[in-house]
Amino acid sequence: MSSGLLEDASFNQSPAFGDVDLFAADRPLADAAARLGLDAKALSACGRDYGSAETLDLGRIANENPPKLRTMDGKGNRLDLVEFHPAYHALMQKSIGHGIHASAHDGSDPQGPLASRAVRLYLATQAESGHLCPITMTHACVGALRAEPGLLKKWLPKIQSRRYDPRPLSWTKKTGVTLGMGMTERQGGTDVRANITQAVTIRTQGGGDHVEITGHKWFMSAPMCDAFLVLAQAEGGLTCYLMPRYRPDGGQNNLRFQRLKDKLGNKSNASSEVEFHAAYAERVGAEGAGVRTIIEMVNLTRLDCAIASAGWAAMATPRTCRWPATIARPRSTPSGKARAMSWRSTCCAPPAAIPRPRWIRSPGWCARPPRPSTWRRSPRRWSAR
Ligand SMILES: Cc1cc2nc3c(=O)[nH]c(=O)nc-3n(C[C@H](O)[C@H](O)[C@H](O)COP(=O)(O)OP(=O)(O)OC[C@H]3O[C@@H](n4cnc5c(N)ncnc54)[C@H](O)[C@@H]3O)c2cc1C
Repeated sequence: MSSGLLEDASFNQSPAFGDVDLFAADRPLADAAARLGLDAKALSACGRDYGSAETLDLGRIANENPPKLRTMDGKGNRLDLVEFHPAYHALMQKSIGHGIHASAHDGSDPQGPLASRAVRLYLATQAESGHLCPITMTHACVGALRAEPGLLKKWLPKIQSRRYDPRPLSWTKKTGVTLGMGMTERQGGTDVRANITQAVTIRTQGGGDHVEITGHKWFMSAPMCDAFLVLAQAEGGLTCYLMPRYRPDGGQNNLRFQRLKDKLGNKSNASSEVEFHAAYAERVGAEGAGVRTIIEMVNLTRLDCAIASAGWAAMATPRTCRWPATIARPRSTPSGKARAMSWRSTCCAPPAAIPRPRWIRSPGWCARPPRPSTWRRSPRRWSAR
């Protein structure tokens, strides 16, 4: 006999979601992948990895333990570090291992590299999407860096590495890197032409040059990336620069994180307000062509936003289908019968059996309030009455 306690009400709950092959369970996705000739076996392994109970739990933990900013140590020395929960780092390693940050450019998917990566991103976002912000930006930065082939050549091997390296070190000493972007400012938002951050060219004796950037960014996500594509005003207009977190001499670059955003979602990942105090950077693309250059990166990130949004919708589907599949099936046991009755009474009952306002219960109810008698009735619409 039921105690009436919470635990005894579990007969109307589906089992915990997990250990699902998110690829194989998604029939339209698997069909589309087959049409494109993608490697279904590899994608299925990826679907199992992101659909495992363990990975889903990493996603939960990463979002329950948001990152923390440490501007200084106990002695007042600048640190400008963001500490992430180990679950976030584990997800980063997983997605870099699956190549979502670089497989579109490294030739590892001979058949449909963009489509294969899109499928993996779509699967990964179902486990946790916050960490995919730096993953997606690392994938996308290659688009903008193409405007500066010398820089791309230097950075590409580290970008394409499958080893996630979160250590606070110069990118040259790391086994793999991630890249972010800093475009928007407090006074301008979307309108980056209103940016006030300034770049000053510094000519060195060796003939090379770089800039020092002074100003701020109002929304720079994933601030522990190894470098950022940044917009700043140069003499020739708004220009795109690559700003590493460590200077070439190995010292920490002058990025001063002010605070982390308190966001509605995307909790596992940090988004910062940051100041640049004559921070070292190198030009990407022509001076004055900042928007034209960085838009190559932005465009790729926005495509990923669309793929991730589709992934979120897909994430809801198996969870929803699981309920009728596991609860609604009539069983011979009394509790099974109770489950079936419960399902029937909520989903299949005729409209009159569910308490509704009187105007809905009338014969031929049409789920809308009655119109005032002064309204003209369209004979076609009301002919069913
Ligand atoms: C989760 C998250 C992560 C982010 N990460 C980054 C990042 O890593 N790097 C980065 O640079 N930025 C980042 N952003 C910031 C984002 O780029 C800005 O929020 C965005 O540019 C919008 O600026 P805003 O919020 O100031 O809105 P506004 O610019 O004030 O815009 C508000 C509304 O007005 C409209 N609008 C604005 N200007 C015009 C115009 N001229 N004509 C017509 N309509 C207009 C906009 O479309 C929008 O609907 C992030 C934002 C979010 C939410």
